[in-house]
Amino acid sequence: MAEMIKTKALVIHSIRWHETSKIVTLFSREFGLIKAIARGVFRKNSPLAGRLETLNLILAIISFKETRELQIITTADLLESFPSIKSDWQRLPYALAILELIQKVIHPAHKDKVFFDFVVQMIRAISLTKTPLVVLWYFLLKLSSYLGFKPDLDQCSICQKKNFKDGVFFILQKGGLVCMDCANQALHQLKLTEYDLSFLQKLQTFPYKKIHELDTKFGFSVDFTTMLLQYLNVHLGHPLRLESLKMIL
Ligand SMILES: [Zn+2]
Repeated sequence: MAEMIKTKALVIHSIRWHETSKIVTLFSREFGLIKAIARGVFRKNSPLAGRLETLNLILAIISFKETRELQIITTADLLESFPSIKSDWQRLPYALAILELIQKVIHPAHKDKVFFDFVVQMIRAISLTKTPLVVLWYFLLKLSSYLGFKPDLDQCSICQKKNFKDGVFFILQKGGLVCMDCANQALHQLKLTEYDLSFLQKLQTFPYKKIHELDTKFGFSVDFTTMLLQYLNVHLGHPLRLESLKMIL
């Protein structure tokens, strides 16, 4: 028997299905990832029309059956549609990258209201910030922690030194730092300056509700997007390529 469930959800992917329907992937607050069909959404006067665009935050009523792969959306109220992101090519790829990461990294059965609220806050931050790239870095760093491999950016993992005037190596496999004195330079390619590291440390402890206010001068010696994606790759054990970042990377 199908039951009717009601949940807040982000539309993270949507494709047209036949003439009038749509298949959407929802990241829901109460039930995790849900794949569902919205029948007749392209028909005139459909109550679902315009509500199931990618990036929309909706309140959905879904006919749900555990054994079914595709659930059925019966009602969707639009809560937020983030027009300032959708119309801005300086913002959109970063928001889509976050949605893509959720689709590729979070296990379909995984449910976590706190994490859902965090993700919504990140999308809001992208609509508000002057530097959407910083919000993506923040998300990547927090996602690593959430998945259980929080990098230790505090001290050298060998000698526990905390002062890195000459720079420091970040070891992807270890998720930690190795200072110049402890490192065999030939082996460790990813060198951070003191400024790079202090910025990452600041990011790691910055309150998420204010991340859109964080201003930075940039001028970093490494590309944090690549570094943090590589870090996720190493710890997830499978390659992660983000289609949404192709236009900006
Ligand atoms: Zn050391």
